[in-house]
Amino acid sequence: MTIPLPRRAFLGATLAAPALSRAQGGARLLVVGGGFGGATAASYARREYPWLDVTLVEQRTRYITCPYSNRVLAGDLGLADITHGYEGLRARGVRAIHDRAILHDPVARSVRLRGGEILSYDRLILSPGIALRHDAIEGYDEAAEERMPHAWIAADGAQIALLRRQLEAMPDGGVVGLVIPANPYRCPPGPYERISLIASYLSRHKPRSKILALDAKDAFSKQALFQDAWRALYPGMIEWVSATDDGRVVRVDPGAMVLETEFGTRHRVDVANVIPPQSAASVAADAGLADRTGWVPVNPQTLESRIAPGIHVVGDAMFPGPMPKSGFLANSEGKAAVAAAAALLRGEAPPEPIFVNTCYSHVGPDYAISVANVFRADAGSGSFKEVPGSGGTSPRGDLPEQRRLEARHADGWYASMARDIFGWQ
Ligand SMILES: Cc1cc2nc3c(=O)[nH]c(=O)nc-3n(C[C@H](O)[C@H](O)[C@H](O)COP(=O)(O)OP(=O)(O)OC[C@H]3O[C@@H](n4cnc5c(N)ncnc54)[C@H](O)[C@@H]3O)c2cc1C
Repeated sequence: MTIPLPRRAFLGATLAAPALSRAQGGARLLVVGGGFGGATAASYARREYPWLDVTLVEQRTRYITCPYSNRVLAGDLGLADITHGYEGLRARGVRAIHDRAILHDPVARSVRLRGGEILSYDRLILSPGIALRHDAIEGYDEAAEERMPHAWIAADGAQIALLRRQLEAMPDGGVVGLVIPANPYRCPPGPYERISLIASYLSRHKPRSKILALDAKDAFSKQALFQDAWRALYPGMIEWVSATDDGRVVRVDPGAMVLETEFGTRHRVDVANVIPPQSAASVAADAGLADRTGWVPVNPQTLESRIAPGIHVVGDAMFPGPMPKSGFLANSEGKAAVAAAAALLRGEAPPEPIFVNTCYSHVGPDYAISVANVFRADAGSGSFKEVPGSGGTSPRGDLPEQRRLEARHADGWYASMARDIFGWQ
């Protein structure tokens, strides 16, 4: 199918003009990264704009979600429960290619695959996720991950499985150390959900054990709710150390299983989960899309890169201002980027985007808490802003029925998100 393209499309995409006048097929939307942001974008592009010719490049054949991976660590679920394939996207008409992409020529609007193929596009949506900064904590290099897993990028699931095995092998009475980074990082409440669910496992199977959480900040998401729950469900098991109280870890020794703080305190632990500082994934950084923050600056209206026109960047890789780096937001951003790209390809004004987020955290199998927000583009600051009064957190207090219901809502959120992104109906 050929779509009529008004002249403004050519103004917004000068070098792509020859591609848009192709005699066959629609405009070419290329999506790199098949996780929360990218798979959403590819799926929605086919569903909402059937005139788009959509190709998705994802390096893995199966996608394991970080959401609910903490429940795998607790032994409540297996890796198979959080693994998804790309059959649903193919059924929707997405051409899915499993290879690693390199943005070798953003000006000529083409991407090279590791296998050698060159893919040209009219608009690119990039959602490659994060990279771990191995320069941030002395001693925490790639080899150290095998002894002190991060389990913060799910990839093939090996890091999650390793941490789970270490927890199972640890003796009752052992110490699990967590190293938690400063903001911004993927999933602000994630480390505290992880502390909670490791405590859930330990309290059932190794009740004399302890968790030592060493944090590079002084406050965290849903803090009062988490700490209330820890006191109620896991009394005496969890010690959280703020940055001010010498919680910032600057060095690790994987051989000796030691975590060392900035004031020189050395903590010997039995299991170490080191979540290092992060930046945009290498495919974005290598193409020069990230700025000095390590993240990709975008126009909040269109999510288009401020550095490379024609490339919309969504999900954890982009600099989100006040928005958290969450899967729900990546899903919301993926839809907004498709709407903007489709409008620009047709020479229309992009619609006003709305970004929604609800982040559930399990504290136990039948106990969950949540935070919700809505954000909009803010022309004044050139960033994003939270809509006043749009969200909030679960109420505090002894509310077992509310916590139980939120745990079921969380399960419903996960199932509907998986269906929305990877399903076909
Ligand atoms: C423990 C934990 C719990 C979490 N829980 C929640 C939760 O409850 N709710 C929530 O909303 N969020 C949660 N998150 C956050 C959520 O996982 C991320 O925000 C989300 O995955 C971001 O989506 P993304 O598309 O940016 O990146 P990803 O989901 O990481 O997807 C990126 C994809 O790009 C691919 N890729 C990268 N580079 C290339 C390349 N060069 N070529 C081809 N493919 C490439 C990768 O293989 C990957 O599949 C959690 C995170 C963690 C760590």
